[in-house]
Amino acid sequence: MQSGEKTPTTTTMPNDDSRLRVIMGQIADACAGAGRAPDTVALLGVSKGQGINAISRLAQQGLTAFGENYVQEALPKLAALAALNLNWHFIGRLQANKTREVATGFAWVHSVDRLKVAERLSAQRPDDRPPLNCCIEINTSGELTKGGIDPSALAELVAAISTLPRLRLRGFMALPALSTDLDTQRAGFRRVRELLAPYRDQLDTLSMGTSEDFGAAIAEGATIVRVGTALFGPRVPRGLVDS
Ligand SMILES: *Cc1c(COP(=O)(O)O)cnc(C)c1O
Repeated sequence: MQSGEKTPTTTTMPNDDSRLRVIMGQIADACAGAGRAPDTVALLGVSKGQGINAISRLAQQGLTAFGENYVQEALPKLAALAALNLNWHFIGRLQANKTREVATGFAWVHSVDRLKVAERLSAQRPDDRPPLNCCIEINTSGELTKGGIDPSALAELVAAISTLPRLRLRGFMALPALSTDLDTQRAGFRRVRELLAPYRDQLDTLSMGTSEDFGAAIAEGATIVRVGTALFGPRVPRGLVDS
């Protein structure tokens, strides 16, 4: 708050409803600034560390897509909220021994970064569900602690995944190093957009931008922004999430 501004008489945290409206407004503003139609960007609510009630409240307000990072944390949420027909996106690091749950329960996987995992997802995708949408996660920052493939290996992985019958390769996901500087943020996202450029006829998705930097991501062509904290408020540490 600026000095001189009056202290509000009630200091309530914004509830989920107003947070959702604020973020939808910010997405619309970023789209307008970039000369893009607002419906070219989808909001993915990142619900890791959030409980079932919070997800359900946002679903009632119209949000339909939610992202989870950990299979064990996600499964009880998918089960509890099954009646709402939400679109679940898996966005975390995926171990080969957890692919079956993801292939069965999710509509999207953003974090494919090796062929073995992609092959298993394709083989395990149930026949009565549409092909699993997937993105290849690219590591543009060279940070070894992060998932994602090196850009030099991208063409080969795109070609291999494109042949898998039960996957539908949609595009790329990235989590560039966080920065508070808009130009630095944009440079990280621009790199991902440039990597997609040769595949424009084939791929339509750029999954990039979090609570910290989704405006910059939209300016550089994001089609899905993955927003957690700004939408839900702070996360509960892993292992403590319940309803
Ligand atoms: C947690 C997470 C997000 C959301 O981050 P916030 O800062 O809470 O918006 C987005 N993408 C990935 C891959 C994440 O793990």
